[in-house]
Amino acid sequence: MIEEKFDAIVVGAGPAGNACALTMAQRGMKVLQLERGEYPGSKNVQGAILYADALEKLIPDFREDAPLERHVIEQRIWMMDDRSVSGMQYRSDDFNEEKPNRYTIIRAQFDKWFSKRVQAAGAIVICETTVTELVQETDGRVIGVRVDRNGGFIRSDVVVLAEGVNGLLGARAGLRAVPTPKTVALAVKEMHFLPRETIESRFNLQGDEGVVIEAAGTITRGMTGTAFLYTNRESLSVGIGCLISDFAETRRTPYGLLETFARHPSVAPLVAGSEVKEYAAHMIPEGGYKAIPQLFGDGWLIVGDAGQFVNAVHREGSNLAMTTGRIAGEAIHQVKSRREPMTAENLALYKKMLDASFVMKDLKKYRNLPKALDNKHLFTTYPQLLSQAMQTWFRVDGVDKKAKENEIVKSFFKARRFTGLVGDMVSVARGWR
Ligand SMILES: Cc1cc2nc3c(=O)[nH]c(=O)nc-3n(C[C@H](O)[C@H](O)[C@H](O)COP(=O)(O)OP(=O)(O)OC[C@H]3O[C@@H](n4cnc5c(N)ncnc54)[C@H](O)[C@@H]3O)c2cc1C
Repeated sequence: MIEEKFDAIVVGAGPAGNACALTMAQRGMKVLQLERGEYPGSKNVQGAILYADALEKLIPDFREDAPLERHVIEQRIWMMDDRSVSGMQYRSDDFNEEKPNRYTIIRAQFDKWFSKRVQAAGAIVICETTVTELVQETDGRVIGVRVDRNGGFIRSDVVVLAEGVNGLLGARAGLRAVPTPKTVALAVKEMHFLPRETIESRFNLQGDEGVVIEAAGTITRGMTGTAFLYTNRESLSVGIGCLISDFAETRRTPYGLLETFARHPSVAPLVAGSEVKEYAAHMIPEGGYKAIPQLFGDGWLIVGDAGQFVNAVHREGSNLAMTTGRIAGEAIHQVKSRREPMTAENLALYKKMLDASFVMKDLKKYRNLPKALDNKHLFTTYPQLLSQAMQTWFRVDGVDKKAKENEIVKSFFKARRFTGLVGDMVSVARGWR
């Protein structure tokens, strides 16, 4: 046993764990953070878009030395069928502001930098150390952790589980259920390296400006999922992810989908001539509000992906991880400042603070969407219908516009007979509200 007792132990050095450890260390608490990877970020995968607001609340001057790739000035949202793309594009020079709102990053570099800030604030960070067990009293109270080094037992007043989506500690201790295949997506990503000038000319960018593309449609072959392409300084992050239950049912492979996406006629010219150097796979919690487990108890709290904090509609995860981590740190510090014990009753403050934040409000707003999106027509028939309608409308071929309108309406009515188009649109709209 390690004799020293800590105010808090944080398990995991992803954005949630780093935010929590930093918040507590900044407030003078004695914090130990344990990470199983060789270094913070070595095990972590993200697209990756960084949302500045969440980080700014923790490290206001982060822009001075954080490893940022490009600031995002343009967002494209694509609905794809096998040969076409219908979409929305928003580009604004306003995003070339002094303190940009979104950046692309590379997580291995970013997490390392973040961890240095955590250590500078006074937390002790130990890598290559896996927490194997939460140590509980007979009444269930968590009093510390056991690690894989020297069978060590380390004591603390509270343990923060920032172990990510597939962390097993909480589940093993019976504090949260193992996420089900219906609530977790498997995403794969590859890095396509290209010269900086090539990226800038292909995407019409200057300096560190960046473009991000989110895509859905027939590219996922009827499975619930999305794809993405993000510009970094000298590489493109290209990825795709679908629910694990859909992969199991269709027996399709994630890398097969990614290959098809990269070969799509609208994507292939963007990645042409690139050198693919890295390939990674990771899970994403996508169950939303209804999949959030119990978040606190006697001596423990859950933050980030481990608590299913991902807004799949807006592709936000790392900011929810940082925000839940920060709020957990603040709540723990408040309890400690009052010299009260880390009981479930006192730590309920964390949930109260979360409920008042955008995190819970956003997830609650979309609570019915995961069910509405579990519909294969959204990823097969509807994108095809949309593409046909666009093509009918834009092709100039001597057919009068009234006849074109009729043809489009007729095709939607025909589809309605076997898809339940109206009902599907209503449930998606309801899920959105
Ligand atoms: C392909 C992909 C693309 C994404 N794109 C975006 C995006 O563009 N923007 C965005 O905001 N979000 C994105 N996300 C989501 C985002 O990556 C996550 O929401 C975020 O990383 C969650 O942070 P976390 O700290 O909770 O978990 P993680 O980042 O998973 O960190 C958990 C850490 O805990 C460690 N750990 C686990 N168990 C133990 C143990 N027993 N002992 C010690 N250490 C342990 C792990 O090694 C890991 O370092 C994406 C995710 C994926 C997979």
